[in-house]
Amino acid sequence: MDRPALEKLQFERLQKTLAQAAKSPYYSQILTKKVISSIRSVKDIQILPFVAKPELRENFPYGFLAEPLSEIVRLHSSSGTTGTPTVVFHTREDLAHWTDLTARSMYMAGLRKEDVFQNIMGYGLFTGGLGFHYGAEKVGAMVLPTAAGNSRRQIWFMNTFRTTAVHILPSYAMRLYSFFPEVGIDPKKDLALKIFFIGAEHHSEALRQQIQEAFGVKAFNSYGLSEMCGPGIAFECPCRSGMHLWEDEYLMEIIHPETGEVLPDGSEGELVLTSLCRTGMPLLRYRTHDLTKIIPEPCPCGRTHRRLARMRGRSDDMLILNGVNIFPLQIECAIMSVPNIGSNYVVEIDKEDFLDRIHIKLEVNPETFTGSLENMENLRREVVEAVRIELGLTPKVILLEPNSIPPWEGKAKRIVDLRKNEYKTE
Ligand code: ADP
Ligand code: ZN
Repeated sequence: MDRPALEKLQFERLQKTLAQAAKSPYYSQILTKKVISSIRSVKDIQILPFVAKPELRENFPYGFLAEPLSEIVRLHSSSGTTGTPTVVFHTREDLAHWTDLTARSMYMAGLRKEDVFQNIMGYGLFTGGLGFHYGAEKVGAMVLPTAAGNSRRQIWFMNTFRTTAVHILPSYAMRLYSFFPEVGIDPKKDLALKIFFIGAEHHSEALRQQIQEAFGVKAFNSYGLSEMCGPGIAFECPCRSGMHLWEDEYLMEIIHPETGEVLPDGSEGELVLTSLCRTGMPLLRYRTHDLTKIIPEPCPCGRTHRRLARMRGRSDDMLILNGVNIFPLQIECAIMSVPNIGSNYVVEIDKEDFLDRIHIKLEVNPETFTGSLENMENLRREVVEAVRIELGLTPKVILLEPNSIPPWEGKAKRIVDLRKNEYKTE
């Protein structure tokens, strides 16, 4: 669709969404007839207030519901990475749109009906499992709903049913990889893997490269959040340089995280989304807290939906170490700039003699681990140096054997801030 047609469609859908949202207790207060009639273009949504998790919590559970419960067919919930989970309601129509979006996203990346798709994601309240499940069925692939965990069984399914496409958390991918030597299978030579869909959590380009290298696949970045339906909001095309945000279903704005001012394309800030097709619980100007930018140039693939750059972090997980602002992803980038290193790590932040200290516990690759002690010490020094250069702080680095960091249930929790009395790992 060319941009003028797309923008026309967006405005038509926005008008419907405003009328729909006004049916909810929360928006009935805000979206008066006068306010709705003063919105004459997509840009005019700037007169509306933002909403974020606090509003969702204050109006829990039904304050944003825009349809009677008899029209709601499913509830999902955010994974609660940042506090009390929030709930989201879906009508049958919402689920149909969501399925279309995940199907469209996976098809764009190359999934076809001939594929065998293994969905290694939590099924349940978390949207990662069911969201992709229905999308892949819609494409017509054979879906193996193996869900998360049980690495040896995952490998057995991959091998037995010749899995070609996988959906997996990036933090779990390399953990899964560490089980291959034990079962005597080389994922590159012995399996039929082609495509990985990775997302749902922040990860670096370096981690993507490591996953591609380990499994011999192409890995596509997938972005989504429960409040907007789940995965399938923005997705990489075969060019894999930014994720196309599906602008026929969502409006995006980038704002200054402190002032709320709307920023021009190309500037980094916080992503704000407005749903255009959701009926059960439409949200207008929802602050995601995810920091990114809109890539202004059109994509070489020819799609007209604008792209989002890889997420740099969440505005609420920035760390302040000895007065310097640091994003957790910077630590990951530094670690992974060292060759032959693993990617399961946790970072503990502590105070010693009034100074913030970083302790990095890092599992090394199975191949590296079988090397000499001297190699390990050199590797350790390299990691210290890489982090020192990136952050300007000298970390304490402890190298661990593969699989010594306990697996996370769901998304990785890599940063433990002991300054806030969080628990230390053993
Ligand atoms: P929670 O906010 O509790 O984690 P969700 O399961 O809805 O709940 O997760 C959505 C969040 O996950 C996003 O706001 C974002 O921070 C993160 N996320 C999802 N996909 C990606 C991705 N591809 N890259 C970086 N972060 C992502
Ligand atoms: Zn593209």
